[in-house]
Amino acid sequence: MAEFDPSKKWVELHLHLDGAVRTETLLEVARRRGLSLPADTVDDLVPHVSMNNPGHIDDMFHAFHTLIPVLSGDHAAIRRIAYELCEDQAQQGVVYFEARYCPHLLTSNLTGESGDDPTAAEVVELVNAGLQQGSKDYNIQARSLLCAIREHPEWSHEMVELCGKYSSDGVVGLDLAGGKVGYKEDANLPHIKAFQDAQRLGVHRTIHAGEVGGPEIVEEAVTEMHAERIGHGYHVLDDEDLYQRLKKEGMHFEVCPVSSYMTGAVQTDFKQHPAKRFAQDGANFSLSSDDPRVFLTSLTRERKFVKENWGFDDALISTLNLNAARACFLPEADKARLVSHVQMLQGP
Ligand SMILES: [Zn+2]
Repeated sequence: MAEFDPSKKWVELHLHLDGAVRTETLLEVARRRGLSLPADTVDDLVPHVSMNNPGHIDDMFHAFHTLIPVLSGDHAAIRRIAYELCEDQAQQGVVYFEARYCPHLLTSNLTGESGDDPTAAEVVELVNAGLQQGSKDYNIQARSLLCAIREHPEWSHEMVELCGKYSSDGVVGLDLAGGKVGYKEDANLPHIKAFQDAQRLGVHRTIHAGEVGGPEIVEEAVTEMHAERIGHGYHVLDDEDLYQRLKKEGMHFEVCPVSSYMTGAVQTDFKQHPAKRFAQDGANFSLSSDDPRVFLTSLTRERKFVKENWGFDDALISTLNLNAARACFLPEADKARLVSHVQMLQGP
């Protein structure tokens, strides 16, 4: 494994590949493929693929419904967005990030041309290739997580297989994303089984839980699905016993500040946030941007946001960055190198 770049120190764990696509790239790809978008300049398109004001999580899904069909099924575009993400992250001083996505959502070609649709495995190979080239060119380390989707239990088994198949090619873990549906319903059983298989096979696991859903989803993620990290997790605070238990166990929460207000996961008062309690209690959490292009944010802006609104200081932000390094899904020896790199640059 290459050495970490001594000029970069930030670590980002919760970053959706398809939520990080440059608007310029969307326009160019749509033009090349002859696909229509709701606007044909960057400025006009941004409002259709982003959210600037707190709203509802469905507004976020609307943005994805506009942008994913542009990329889906296009080999060059899939590789390109992974490559460009490395450049965007490197420019912010990010030394290591994990990008997550669901390969199945990028397989269908909607242009009407047939015969060239990538399989889910081929999508993973394209993303791996883009991340590897980008890592090299921008001196950054990038890994990926594959997302099972709550609404699509039929994909979950294959997702675990793909995680295993590409574990030496940059895929370091499994995520569960999507809406809340399936909770305690039969549709959820394949997800539970997939995460149990993942644990058995040594595939790392994070799960979106306690974002718009309640603490029972966090509990399920941890107890039945063996999550090692929780995406968001804010509503764990609605169950004090569960929170105390997870805090004691050192469960890592991937907090995404701007996203949490935009999707309505938390109350729209920028001075209040469950993560302020996490900070007070010394709970294990880190900062991420979630979908930087959709929420018009970046890891840099997230740090500014929590300083201005939550009163977080530089020492705390350094601790959160170190928390992220310690919670990453790299193999142990590589993780230890990342942790000491971060400690060297910002102190223990
Ligand atoms: Zn997310």
